[in-house]
Amino acid sequence: GLPSRAYFKLEEINEKLLHRAIVKKHKANARPRLILNNMLVLDLGAAPGGWSVYASTQLDHNAGGAVVSVDLLPLDFNVTDRIQHELNGRFEFIQGDFTHNNTRRDIIDAFGRLSSDRDLTQAHVVTSLTSTKQQKANLIISDMAANFTGDSSTDAIQTINLCEQSLAFAASGDCFDTSYSPENGDGMLMKTGSFLCKYFTCGEENERDLMSAARRVFQSIHKLKPSASRKESSEMYLLGFNRK
Ligand code: SAM
Repeated sequence: GLPSRAYFKLEEINEKLLHRAIVKKHKANARPRLILNNMLVLDLGAAPGGWSVYASTQLDHNAGGAVVSVDLLPLDFNVTDRIQHELNGRFEFIQGDFTHNNTRRDIIDAFGRLSSDRDLTQAHVVTSLTSTKQQKANLIISDMAANFTGDSSTDAIQTINLCEQSLAFAASGDCFDTSYSPENGDGMLMKTGSFLCKYFTCGEENERDLMSAARRVFQSIHKLKPSASRKESSEMYLLGFNRK
């Protein structure tokens, strides 16, 4: 079938908005990309699969690129098949609540497997196969949204909570540890890694808390609104670039 609307939003962020945000802010000439071909990507709230499909088209499995996706709901067989094919098997889907400990363990295990595969595919560049395996993501993306209650401020707050939990997972390895300590290097996101999450604007205070949390973890943060996202929707994207 056709890719979802979400697919085009991520495409636009990767190909246009990121460039604009970074260049404007740092007057750089570089052409930054959110998704580079050798990345290990963690996609939280992945169903029905648009972002995972898009990410898979940007990755090169020969260079070590891989995707781990998580959702409460399963992915369609067709979607899974397409991503598996694109990544030559370097794709794992985990069905579960990402805030639960057993899901977290499954994510860590999946990264362990994909990282050791990567060392094997890149055996000619690593000096030793027993070198420290990278077991972290280069990029964490979250499009998670709580089931809508009909009350837009409740929905927005619940979704911001999911963003904060993803950020904590990225920075501390624990969804409920909001110390976001950049010193200890813990968490599912490697140093220099990036983070993207969707939230809904709601009362300035919640948004300000999310931004200040993100500022503690990343060198630069940006608010993005893809044109594929309807103007009247309060949907926004927070990008954290370059983990400290
Ligand atoms: N990015 C997806 C795409 O491109 O197809 C769309 C994601 S959809 C807007 C939000 C998803 O977040 C839902 O499928 C929902 O099941 C999932 N979700 C919400 N809370 C979650 C949680 N605690 N753990 C895992 N997934 C969750």
